[in-house]
Amino acid sequence: MTATTSTERRHGLASAGETKFAALQAQLVGTHAGRIEIARRALTWADETFGTGLTVASSMGDEVLVHLVGTTLTGADVFFLDTGYHFAETIGTRDAYAAMLPIRLRTIHPRLTVAEQDAEHGSQLYARDPHLCCAMRKVEPLDRALSDRDAWVTGMRREDAPTRTDIAVVGWDARRRMVKVNPLAVWTSADVDRYAAEHEVFLNPLRQSGYTSIGCAPCTRPVSEGEDPRAGRWAGRDKVECGLHT
Ligand code: SF4
Repeated sequence: MTATTSTERRHGLASAGETKFAALQAQLVGTHAGRIEIARRALTWADETFGTGLTVASSMGDEVLVHLVGTTLTGADVFFLDTGYHFAETIGTRDAYAAMLPIRLRTIHPRLTVAEQDAEHGSQLYARDPHLCCAMRKVEPLDRALSDRDAWVTGMRREDAPTRTDIAVVGWDARRRMVKVNPLAVWTSADVDRYAAEHEVFLNPLRQSGYTSIGCAPCTRPVSEGEDPRAGRWAGRDKVECGLHT
């Protein structure tokens, strides 16, 4: 299949994929090896089903996903949303993965630079209106990156947040009318740590400083022992998601 099939066909493929992977999940979800197998099979299925219509979203704070993609598929299309506010360590992680793995990396930029946004909306918009800032620097670029695709892959896990407890390995992105593949949906945090250790996954250096969920520098802080892993995102503000997955 090439990019872009009809919405009806995509929807049918999403339903078929959801059924297939719900059955596989019932068989394999009980072990670490089984959960890795689910992820690899989901990526292979998506690649075979959608071909050039498939793309992978990476924040470069989801290193295990990028490693899994690069070691399961050859020449996968992976895109990174460069908001202009990323930590230098995250940009370095992106560059390292582009050099280390057989992926085709796209870096997508917002329509406005940070300086242009400051001029139009005032400085530090993220502090005054993070929803608008995310809409311009993340959501619009994401929609653009996905505009000519049939399916996208994310690193979302059910354990990430109370808003994600029911995500499927293969599902339907109703807002964008495309297939959404979440290979790590049923992985635990222990699975991520074990996979990273066993495969010597290159990690964003911020991990060593207590950053368990990594986003833009102004909106991310390290978390303390025992805190929710995503507690460091938009800490103290009425915001838990950037809008990419809602
Ligand atoms: S995470 Fe913060 S800096 Fe990044 S786009 Fe959203 S509000 Fe802006």
